[in-house]
Amino acid sequence: MNQTAVIAIHGGAGTILRTLMDPDAEQRYHASLRDILAAGQSILAGGGSALDAVSEAVRLLEDNPLFNAGRGAVFTADGTHELDAAIMDGSTLEAGAICCVTRLRNPILVARRVLEASDHVMFTGAGAQAFAVAQGFELVDPAYFHTDARHKQWLLARGEQRVMLDHDGATLADGETEPTPHEPIDPNKKFGTVGAVALDQRGHLAAATSTGGVTNKQAGRVGDTPLIGAGCYADDATCAVSTTGSGEMFMRMVAAYDVAAQMAYRGVSLEEAAADVVMKRLPRINGRGGLIAVDARGNVTLPFNTDGMYRGFVRVGVAPVTAIYR
Ligand code: ASP
Repeated sequence: MNQTAVIAIHGGAGTILRTLMDPDAEQRYHASLRDILAAGQSILAGGGSALDAVSEAVRLLEDNPLFNAGRGAVFTADGTHELDAAIMDGSTLEAGAICCVTRLRNPILVARRVLEASDHVMFTGAGAQAFAVAQGFELVDPAYFHTDARHKQWLLARGEQRVMLDHDGATLADGETEPTPHEPIDPNKKFGTVGAVALDQRGHLAAATSTGGVTNKQAGRVGDTPLIGAGCYADDATCAVSTTGSGEMFMRMVAAYDVAAQMAYRGVSLEEAAADVVMKRLPRINGRGGLIAVDARGNVTLPFNTDGMYRGFVRVGVAPVTAIYR
């Protein structure tokens, strides 16, 4: 038995400032991260697969409105929600992804079904939803994804501070554009996304990533999250990676795959490969964000080049570690 089984998760990176964080909100983030890690840990402890552990962790992150995926997803410029997700099995290199879906409660579960039940790797929009329905998934009313916090963030991102002032009354001075203490992610540096990576007791790796994208994105825009190699990658021979940040830059850097490629071709450690991508390569093109990664030996790294990243990891039999700031 491999005793190094481990799961790591993230809930997005960005300008997450201690000074802007409400202490109660901070506790809610930590508690959510801990609970979700505990769910992944119990799957791994029971001999479950890395693929099952990352699916379940991301499903729970999607259902939690604190995070930008599933319920709690950010708004597009049209005031709608378009969700993207991907999952990859490091033992077979099988992958599944969906993008631009508007009515699937848990995009990660549909991505997983694409991996298991389709000859294709990726479905978009209406086709993805038709696939999901044919596979027995129910469609939800798009209103399911609406949360007041994200709506307010969207209005801010559109420059309609006036509307937010109406909500916040006396808490903000006229014309002030700073986020309120309840909005730990500066909507002007609007990242989110959730992800999980895991190593199971059999030595297999898996990665999963899910997002609502970036606030006020143009309808039809797809970022790195559902692209295998950009926002999600897993190969037992090297590592499993899930990213979060300015998706366009992560796509251009093929960020997740680059971590694995550097390990394979340069022979560097997980930590060195991940740090090179996040701290050197991405900043070269103003790529902001971070990633979580685990290798086949159970090493974990969680680098980010922003002020914060909601993150945590847990090994079997020990207490979880969670963190938000640098
Ligand atoms: N990378 C995601 C995207 O571009 C957003 C994020 O991670 O915050 O869609």
